[in-house]
Amino acid sequence: MMSHVPDNSRRRFIKLTAIGLVATPFANALLNNVATAADLISETDPLAAAMKYKADATQAAERKDATATCANCALYTGKAGDAMGPCSIFQGKLVSAKGWCNAWAKKPA
Ligand code: SF4
Repeated sequence: MMSHVPDNSRRRFIKLTAIGLVATPFANALLNNVATAADLISETDPLAAAMKYKADATQAAERKDATATCANCALYTGKAGDAMGPCSIFQGKLVSAKGWCNAWAKKPA
């Protein structure tokens, strides 16, 4: 007589596959958040240092316009209201919306 009870390894495989399918989107979300945080440019990055970049514009001694920040710079492509965003000077990195560097140019109205 044949038994219809599935063996434990098959059950285990099905269970692990189901867990993997459910967990994958969460793992991707976690990894994306880690990558975004790691992409914020550091003031000590050689290019950032050369451009006198400061994450807090008020700390930039060379800044002449007290209203100038990355958020209102023509080279900033972050969304309004976001704390950080991309800048065409620092490819693949994010800059602080409240930052500043000596390439600042007023965003056209
Ligand atoms: S170029 Fe503009 S957006 Fe980029 S770091 Fe300098 S001030 Fe900020």
